[in-house]
Amino acid sequence: CGIVGVLGNHEAAPILVEALKRLEYRGYDSAGIATVNGGTLDRRRAVGKLVNLGDLLVHQPLAGKSGIGHTRWATHGEPNEANAHPHRSGPVAVVHNGIIENFRELRAELAEHGLTPQTDTDTETVAMLTEMFMRAGATPTDAAIQTLGKLHGAFALAFLFDGEEDLMIAARRGSPLAIGYGEGEMFVGSDAIALSPLTDRISYLDEGDYAVITRAGAQVFDAEGNKVAREIRKIEISA
Ligand code: GLU
Repeated sequence: CGIVGVLGNHEAAPILVEALKRLEYRGYDSAGIATVNGGTLDRRRAVGKLVNLGDLLVHQPLAGKSGIGHTRWATHGEPNEANAHPHRSGPVAVVHNGIIENFRELRAELAEHGLTPQTDTDTETVAMLTEMFMRAGATPTDAAIQTLGKLHGAFALAFLFDGEEDLMIAARRGSPLAIGYGEGEMFVGSDAIALSPLTDRISYLDEGDYAVITRAGAQVFDAEGNKVAREIRKIEISA
């Protein structure tokens, strides 16, 4: 129900949890984060309130300056740890708001490629498709773009990749997604409120847009793949 992401210069885990707290007002049943650290993707997830995820992180810390986070409002699959986001398939981690309407058809296609779901969610198919395209030789960015082309439904998505500490892909179709511009740092959030302690320079993706984000900035493309410019506004939100 809430998405955050950071390509930063500080430890990502506390930043992600703090940003997720600012999205708590939307409601959620579980939460999780993933980071890339020393090139390695890892994640922590917990059912219930963010304090449970916080406790888990005390006992099993997650290092790394690049990360994505999620609060989930389950639509497909009960609220348990396995179904909590981020979802992972091989080298890909994904957080998702919304519903992938055609996930059953996609699962059938994935099965033909030997990829079997490990969860009950619609979201996992997004990570699996991206892995499938990477196995076929696509770069992480191209694999994510090819995956977006196969999805039906309403969603906001953020992707993170094994071995890629300076890359995040974000996409919007039906669910809002904001990009935050920092000083040598970049952020993603479901809304500007989530990002308000991090930056006041925000641009919203338009319907159908996707963004290729590095610490140097974001390249935004429309649904047809044309490079587009989306206005960066200075947003004032009182903390
Ligand atoms: N459909 C996804 C799920 O049930 C995402 C739900 C959400 O927006 O939090 O896991």
